Amino acid sequence: MPAKKSAPKTAPKVPATKSAAKTAAKTAAKTAAITAMNPATTTGAAPAKKAAPKKSVVAIGELVIVDAGDHTRDRAPLGAHLSIAGGTWEAAARAKEISATAAQIFTKQANRWVERDITPDEVARFRAAMRETHVRWSCAHDSYLINLASPDQTLRARSIESFRIELRRCHALGLDALVSHPGNYMDERASGLARNIDGIVEGLEAESGPTRLLIELTAGQGTVLGSTFEEMALLISRIPASVQSRVGVCLDTAHIWAAGYDIVSEYDDVWKRFGDTIGFARLGCLHLNDSKAALGSHLDRHDLIGQGTIGRDAFGRIMRDPRLASIPKIIETPKGDAPAESDGRMLKLLRELAQ
Ligand SMILES: [Zn+2]
Ligand SMILES: [Zn+2]
Repeated sequence: MPAKKSAPKTAPKVPATKSAAKTAAKTAAKTAAITAMNPATTTGAAPAKKAAPKKSVVAIGELVIVDAGDHTRDRAPLGAHLSIAGGTWEAAARAKEISATAAQIFTKQANRWVERDITPDEVARFRAAMRETHVRWSCAHDSYLINLASPDQTLRARSIESFRIELRRCHALGLDALVSHPGNYMDERASGLARNIDGIVEGLEAESGPTRLLIELTAGQGTVLGSTFEEMALLISRIPASVQSRVGVCLDTAHIWAAGYDIVSEYDDVWKRFGDTIGFARLGCLHLNDSKAALGSHLDRHDLIGQGTIGRDAFGRIMRDPRLASIPKIIETPKGDAPAESDGRMLKLLRELAQ
């Protein structure tokens, strides 16, 4: 019995051999572990029911291409955060399954401090695999553990080291961007911001390369920095000119909504304020996520597009907004049990909204 492409939760009941069962169980565990680190799955979404086989699925060898709409009409690269279970290059197959023209990955296990460097072998394998896809823009999201603003010297030193190696891996893989969250100041806002800026500068000065750093606007939970356009603008303005040109921002719709920016009833006003404070030239990526949390709740809880508190209309406006037409767009929506089907459905919806 050939193993299914969609990682089984358990090993097949009647495996051909003992070692096959072991391998299957190992793969399933690995996939589950890495999938669990997807930013989208921090939402605690209810697991989707085991779906009946979809009619709109075309099997190509092992690869299953789902109906994700017409990617040839994407004005800007559009895609999803993809699992790297099995290796970074495996994200390419997952990009293909959903006809993605953009991709976001982790370059290591995002919830662990363990670091790794990318070998030339992996670079070759990753690039070759990505060339076989429709992806024309790719980025990584950095580890959740990094806190460049921490007042704890040990944790901050560790964070800077980890941030540097994140940048190094992105440069090696030739990714367009690294999306990085501002840190938590913990003690005092102004000094935290200063520590955060110094950490970013230290990383950028130490690791040069093609990847642009995109600092992500946050929901503003607890003592996290960067949940207002003004604070983000201030942060960037204090980065020295020598490295500032390598810095932009990533705007996550679920985050700014939770931070209090009403993109539903004050759509134009919010974007005007963004343009006036940060500026569209700094906008390097959009994370398109609906929200389970309310406007101004400061909670980061992603939801499926059209099913959360933001609703599909705002996403339609974003998809058709000429100011955002060239900005790469990534979804980090809950994947449930069937990542390709769920992400494919989201991309199809966004592609339809764009017309
Ligand atoms: Zn995001
Ligand atoms: Zn988020």
